Amino acid sequence: MSRLRANIKVNGIVQGVGFRPFIHKQIKDLKLSGWIRNTSEGAEIEIEGEEDLIDRFTAELWTKKPFLALIESVDAVKTAELAGYEGFEIVKSKAAPSRNTLISPDVGICEDCLRELRDPKNRRYRYPFINCTNCGPRFTIIKDVPYDRAYTTMAGFKMCPECYGEYTDIENRRYHAEPTCCGDCGPRLIYMDEGGRELPGDPIKNAVRDIKDHKIVAVKGLGGIHLACLFDDEETPARLRRRKQRDEKPFAIMCRDAETAARYCEISAEERAVLESYRRPIVLLKKKRRGSLAQISENDYVGVMLPYTPVHCLLFDEGLDAVIMTSANLSDLPIIYRNEEALEKLSGIADAFLLNDRDIHTRCDDSLLYVVDGREYPLRRSRGYVPFPLTQRGAEGMVLACGAEQKASFSVSKGKYVFQSQHIGDLKNIETFENYEKQIGHFENMFSIKPEKIVCDLHPDYMSTSYAEDRAAREGLQLVRVQHHWAHMASCMADNELDGEVIGIVWDGTGYGTDGTVWGGEFLTGGYEGFARRAALAPIRLPGGDRAVEEIWRIAVSMLKDAGLDPAPYFGEERSALISRMLDVGLNSPVCSSMGRLFDAVSALAGIRELASYEGQGAILLETAAAEGCSESYLYDISEGDMYRFEYRRLLEAITADIAAGEGKDLIAARFMNTMVDMALQICRRIRRDSGLGRVVLSGGSFQNIYMLTRLVPMLEADGFEVYRHSRVSANDEGVSFGQLAIAAKGR
Ligand code: ZN
Ligand code: ZN
Ligand code: FE
Repeated sequence: MSRLRANIKVNGIVQGVGFRPFIHKQIKDLKLSGWIRNTSEGAEIEIEGEEDLIDRFTAELWTKKPFLALIESVDAVKTAELAGYEGFEIVKSKAAPSRNTLISPDVGICEDCLRELRDPKNRRYRYPFINCTNCGPRFTIIKDVPYDRAYTTMAGFKMCPECYGEYTDIENRRYHAEPTCCGDCGPRLIYMDEGGRELPGDPIKNAVRDIKDHKIVAVKGLGGIHLACLFDDEETPARLRRRKQRDEKPFAIMCRDAETAARYCEISAEERAVLESYRRPIVLLKKKRRGSLAQISENDYVGVMLPYTPVHCLLFDEGLDAVIMTSANLSDLPIIYRNEEALEKLSGIADAFLLNDRDIHTRCDDSLLYVVDGREYPLRRSRGYVPFPLTQRGAEGMVLACGAEQKASFSVSKGKYVFQSQHIGDLKNIETFENYEKQIGHFENMFSIKPEKIVCDLHPDYMSTSYAEDRAAREGLQLVRVQHHWAHMASCMADNELDGEVIGIVWDGTGYGTDGTVWGGEFLTGGYEGFARRAALAPIRLPGGDRAVEEIWRIAVSMLKDAGLDPAPYFGEERSALISRMLDVGLNSPVCSSMGRLFDAVSALAGIRELASYEGQGAILLETAAAEGCSESYLYDISEGDMYRFEYRRLLEAITADIAAGEGKDLIAARFMNTMVDMALQICRRIRRDSGLGRVVLSGGSFQNIYMLTRLVPMLEADGFEVYRHSRVSANDEGVSFGQLAIAAKGR
């Protein structure tokens, strides 16, 4: 076997992920010699040794890699000319700092650190801020680039000699782990009473004692502050709801481990893997028993996460089993993340505070997802995922996509890399909007992006639209306006890396249509270049506009009336007459074609819910009410004109007949959703016949409905369609910025 020299260029995301020390170890194990350096595209490695070992090393680059690294190509050039390297070294970078520097998401505590945390002989035994190259805070502590301790909120903590020794030793697993610290040199925990007075004693033991004593304790995490308390009684969660002014929205819980979670919920192997992954998202798991845990969630699922910081682990080691762990914020305002802010705004909510002196620079909420058919189905892509880039083949230039409004996110891109922001919230709140602006600046700085194009929604009143308009005018940039449901469709296409043209079923609550009305029950065709509206729900009038979105019974009255049915038996003479008059004179009754509103109306009519205390509640409770194993559906009509319309008159006749016959809400809910699934299939067939298209993408907030999603996909597939759903970004409005970006980067 001959000795050779090889020059290997590795493209992809290999910087800031512990790639060089990792390669160092591989090379040492294989007894090769040479060097590695960072380049603007990735890394360059030069090695010398036996040819078969060089080949093995090159082949293994694809699979054996640090877990955050993303390898896109490996090009090796071999030569017989040896350079006589001895040992292995890391060479200074040739070029300026990489254009593709990755900033890692925050990573849940790793096995090695957890072992040390629990080892009485280790010098970091029970140290609440233990971390290493493979775990710990990242995105949330970075103030500026390059990613270097000096530019993080760890800057104020000077490493002690021992930590510095580990940090500079390439053989050590804390080599260049920027937040490296220990009890001698790092942050410390503080436990305070409700007045902000530091309490003596072990903060962890104190907090566990108080939580077990049914108190509500604020716990500082990675991207913000949580409120923790027990839920084994009715009273504690009720007290938390009262104090937080959160009436009915579900709370997430944190369990000691997957076994503990399995006492409350069903967990598949795939769900368990996601729960235990380094990202540690909240996974929505089906309750073991319908109707159980009503004090935490009014639907069939519970949001569960596992401990992800050393502080969490210490709390559970000290004797907790499962606690509510909910973001500390007031109603819909952004999550609280600073110590002073917590003490001020949570006074009267938290009984005590478990804080620390490591500042959080960037807010980042917990991610939230379902696992459907073994694959992730995100609702909120945030901590653990952001700011890892989403790749997009064929995208060009630098673009800023401003997203929608209620579940706002933005996306910035540089060529094929798209960086979608963390969960931002509802831009109508001034505090949320300020954070949105700040985060856009932060992302552009972190990834050195100077947008050439700005994309926004068609909606003239979205805060994100005015932001885009202002900036485009100020900086002389091209402004691209993208219709809301087209963006949803493109988002699901880009999520699945589809090109060409598809059928898009886009169902959601609201989006501004090209005709100025509210859309939301749409069938589109098209791609990144353009779209056509092929079908929609027949118009629904919303008496009182926004008020009808909260008082959802109004929509039911309006639909019954328009279908020629008398609403009085269901909603009373008085309310029916009031709405009737509004509709007759055309007072503030805009029309929409929204699936969310149709769900609201059916929810109210079936007696499931008349008022929505949070967005989507009517639909969520309808899904929760549905009978299992019911396959019947109602009759309905599809009309043909310039496009297909789903006509609901016969549907309402059938539902009112069911009510008259005394059928249960569970059957009505199931039959209704089965009808929607069937209607989607019938309309897709017609569109396929008209257009020849056979690929279908599913997007929009209504597809957070797992009952519908898991029935529609196999139904369409059985009919020969190729069906695509989200797995990297959310189907709800959080995913809109990703679709807007794809359209601007690839389409126009
Ligand atoms: Zn670690
Ligand atoms: Zn130290
Ligand atoms: Fe939407």
